[in-house]
Amino acid sequence: MEKNKITEFYSRFSEPEFIETNYYQGNDLGSVWTKEETRFRVWAPTAEQVTVYLYRSGELGDCFLNLSMSKDRKGTWLAAVEGDWNGTYYTYGVTVDGETKEAVDPYAKAVGVNGNRGMVIDLLATNPEGFTLEQKPFFAQAADAIIYELHVRDFSSDQSSGIRNKGKYLAFTEKGTTNYHGDRTGVDYLKKLGITHIHLLPSFDFMTVDETRLSEEQYNWGYDPQNYNVPEGSYSTDPYNGKVRVREFKQMVQSLHQNGLRVIMDVVYNHTMESNESNFNRIVPGYYYRLTQDGSFSNASGCGNETASERLMMRKFMVDSVVYWAKEYHIDGFRFDLMGIHDIQTMNEIRQALNEVDPSILVYGEGWTGGMSPLPEWKRALKDNVKNMNPGIAAFNDNLRDAVKGSVFHNSDRGFVSGRDGLEESIEFGVAGSIWNEGVDYGRVLYTNSPWAVEPTQTINYTSAHDNLTLWDKLSLSNPDDSRENRIRMNLLAAAIILTSQGIPFFQAGEEFLRSKPLNEEGTAFDENSYRSPDAVNSLKWNDTTTNKEVINYYKGLIAFRKAHSALRMSKAEDVRMKLKLMDWSQPNVVTFTIVNDIDGMLCVIYNANREARTVHIPEGEWKVYVKGNQAGTEVIEFIVGEEVSVEAISAMVLIK
Ligand code: CA
Repeated sequence: MEKNKITEFYSRFSEPEFIETNYYQGNDLGSVWTKEETRFRVWAPTAEQVTVYLYRSGELGDCFLNLSMSKDRKGTWLAAVEGDWNGTYYTYGVTVDGETKEAVDPYAKAVGVNGNRGMVIDLLATNPEGFTLEQKPFFAQAADAIIYELHVRDFSSDQSSGIRNKGKYLAFTEKGTTNYHGDRTGVDYLKKLGITHIHLLPSFDFMTVDETRLSEEQYNWGYDPQNYNVPEGSYSTDPYNGKVRVREFKQMVQSLHQNGLRVIMDVVYNHTMESNESNFNRIVPGYYYRLTQDGSFSNASGCGNETASERLMMRKFMVDSVVYWAKEYHIDGFRFDLMGIHDIQTMNEIRQALNEVDPSILVYGEGWTGGMSPLPEWKRALKDNVKNMNPGIAAFNDNLRDAVKGSVFHNSDRGFVSGRDGLEESIEFGVAGSIWNEGVDYGRVLYTNSPWAVEPTQTINYTSAHDNLTLWDKLSLSNPDDSRENRIRMNLLAAAIILTSQGIPFFQAGEEFLRSKPLNEEGTAFDENSYRSPDAVNSLKWNDTTTNKEVINYYKGLIAFRKAHSALRMSKAEDVRMKLKLMDWSQPNVVTFTIVNDIDGMLCVIYNANREARTVHIPEGEWKVYVKGNQAGTEVIEFIVGEEVSVEAISAMVLIK
């Protein structure tokens, strides 16, 4: 469609009369199957004519039947067809301004190969046995979460996984798998770590992996959305049959749940892979996106367009979509890519809608954008606006991330653990959950001069994720002259900071066994943006779990310790302010704090980032040590009496009295 025509529509979409006449609030958009009939409803207020095309195949052949839709309530079009149409593929032909385009239903619940046709589906029949009534793993409150970020393919694609269904959803259903040394891999391994949630990188249907060429090596993280309400086909054993991916995704969720792990989805509603030719835009040109003044697609995502969550039918689409995943697939949390592109009201409505399904569902996101947006800053779901959002919405904490290990934008930049001075206040800011605490000197905190969270559960604390260098690669580049032993100490100290801070800890899969994405054999160059790099770079190398067992054991010990002590998992800012005390007697590159509560008594946590041991002052008493050097856990390592303790170089110490 011509630009000036789109601009003309675009201004109409904001008029109160258009909104009043065309805001459809029903819950039956898409195709709704029953044995007796299938009904199709699509929202297309600017269309002159809409037709449903029915196909036998998801890929080939002409339409064998077309159904003319009739204009119905609030901008929607409706068609019904008698009989059992389960497994029939369909698209819509939408005529706007004399031009007809074929589009996949944005509300499609299943699709054919490469997502080019929707499919009518009997969803109940895709449920694996026991799924309908399955029990989710017990989970009391957001502060208890320990999140592990994982890409479906990375999990199993390497030979060393010992997993048969490499790169597939079904990899998560395999038990008893081992690496070359006989150590557990797969879900057996995940279960033993102690984490509570698996956060999956985009697993809805994305575009860049060609599902018809799966014998060839292809890889993508999946931040290129095509069909939001359908699982990605390349992770299924048969992308041609629309039912298979639906069933296998459910099998994955069920298996993770059976192993005590909840499942979070990374969702990318902020942009679509296609702009002008996306399904949204073929059906209602110009509606679902923000445009610049000259009628071009605005691009706050850095990916060619940005969606317009403030538009009521886009907002409804997002709310409907997460609720659908939560109900149909039993998803336990959502991570919003570039959440700052969405408006605050939409995020709040998503939180409210999910509360009605299950209030324990987690909601968090990236509190930033990837470029300029026409949406005013005060409306954006940015980290700095988290304080104006529902307390059940959290943001990634880049202040703590970069304070711990150095800037993600400068490979040689160091952080607290790797030898940069003057970051004590930034670490304390993170320790206290990024809320207001009298012990923090905000004038000295990295990237901010005030707290941005109202409740500690609004911060996701982390030092590594899929973006940028892995933690181990970052330490290799920022500290090339340090010994491997010292770099391991830095890694352990980073983990100790994240797992003893208030808020929700998060780490990238494999951080606990020194995951690396090398670009050469010398280990001098690493892949910091591996979104389409081969499996050889991205996959988890399971044999490293044997080599780096000591590091894994430290993570496991910290996780177990965190789970055993509610003092590290406070939900309320008031409690943190009352019970957590940052000590001002610390020395350079040392952070010390205590937490007192009725159950745990007094916890004392010390981080020493200096390259030498330090004698640190602590409250006087008889102390039991649980974390020291490269050891951590729920067993007492040693007893200490007095008001001083020696803390090893580049290490954390945790004591209880
Ligand atoms: Ca796909």
